[in-house]
Amino acid sequence: MLQTVDIGQLSIASYRTAVPEQIMDPLLDTAKRLRGARVLHLSATPYGGGVAELLRSAVPLYRDLGIHATWKIISGPEPFFAVTKKMHNALQGAPAVLTDTDRTLFERTAERNAAALCSDPEFRDVDFVFVHDPQPTALRSYVDDGKGSWIWRCHIDTSEPDPATWHYLRGFLDGYAATVFTMAQFVPPDLPLDLIDVIPPAIDPLSPKNMSLDDRTAHAVLNWIGIEPGHPLITQVSRFDKWKDPLGVIEAYRIARETVPDLQLALVGSMALDDPEGWDVYRTISDATDGDPLVHLFTNLTGVGNIEVNAFQQLSQVIVQKSIREGFGLVVSEALWKQTPVVAGRAGGIPLQIADECGGVLVDSVEACAKALIDLLTDPGHAATLAAAGRERVRKHFLLPRLLLNELTLLAGLAA
Ligand code: UDP
Repeated sequence: MLQTVDIGQLSIASYRTAVPEQIMDPLLDTAKRLRGARVLHLSATPYGGGVAELLRSAVPLYRDLGIHATWKIISGPEPFFAVTKKMHNALQGAPAVLTDTDRTLFERTAERNAAALCSDPEFRDVDFVFVHDPQPTALRSYVDDGKGSWIWRCHIDTSEPDPATWHYLRGFLDGYAATVFTMAQFVPPDLPLDLIDVIPPAIDPLSPKNMSLDDRTAHAVLNWIGIEPGHPLITQVSRFDKWKDPLGVIEAYRIARETVPDLQLALVGSMALDDPEGWDVYRTISDATDGDPLVHLFTNLTGVGNIEVNAFQQLSQVIVQKSIREGFGLVVSEALWKQTPVVAGRAGGIPLQIADECGGVLVDSVEACAKALIDLLTDPGHAATLAAAGRERVRKHFLLPRLLLNELTLLAGLAA
């Protein structure tokens, strides 16, 4: 019922070269206070999307810091994930109606997962449970008090949620000790908890996706999948999701191509276990781009993994992230870390990462996106200056040890 995710081994010491001391030293001190604590992370998918990306690196680093961390995935029938995707959309502001059948499925699935969790010997002595996003939220209601302090970690933009959906979900937050949001603006109305923390996500600078690739290797990787890195290239890397506005990207690309005729566009998208809408969005994009030899559509199911994403983010002249709603958008920091400028929608957590003259250009429309693309493609000097400033911003604020410091500080506070 619950799947434990196998994770690798990482050493926090190897992050010293990338991360400022002001983060590393307090992180090690705080970890000492939590040595031996048992932390469980619960989420809905082991791959595809930012939460999986984060946990894959964070969990081994917790362990290296002396904390017994595990990561488990809840399970449910396909219609459960259709319901939770509906909730996800509604919490980001789309109108939606959860039917009685939807609610029953949401609650029964939580109850079954909670029963599996309670019979798991590893769960017996748990100290802290991080529940990521709406999908596993209701498990808490089916677990007795005394099984650790529960923290609801919301990664999505819940600043203007559909009121009925939010009202329903908040009913399951009663037994939680704390909630964590990416930005203060995301805290929805009437949160039934006193302890609210604001912690933006972060990227792992040493993961295969973000480690430094030499240019020859990056070229070879892109050549191998059919991209010609000699011609200008712009790329959007994201789940196939309407909030990421892939059709807007295609429109902006077509306008930019009038000025830069050999411009290539790559849309690189992953399918996630908990996102049943991915294939519909994929087909819509495929119809919109069909037959254009300069537009390339890739998925994780056709061989595009971490190294390929790394090569795209490194060798594209510009990375696009034209989101309309965005919890954070790890892909923005991933690109900036590789010193690639980003044109991105002014949405959710993206403006935390890009500011005036730092990282790239924030846009509010297809036309503005096209103009920013043309400006950066035709002025590589300015693009490079923006990107270099962006990398420094990521180094200071958006590398994983900073996130770990924030999370462990929260846990130490709860333990006190
Ligand atoms: N990603 C990937 N392959 C893809 C598309 C996305 O590995 O084809 C990764 C991307 O590099 C990033 C994560 O999935 O690490 C997406 O996180 P983000 O916060 O940008 O968006 P989310 O999917 O969580 O909304």
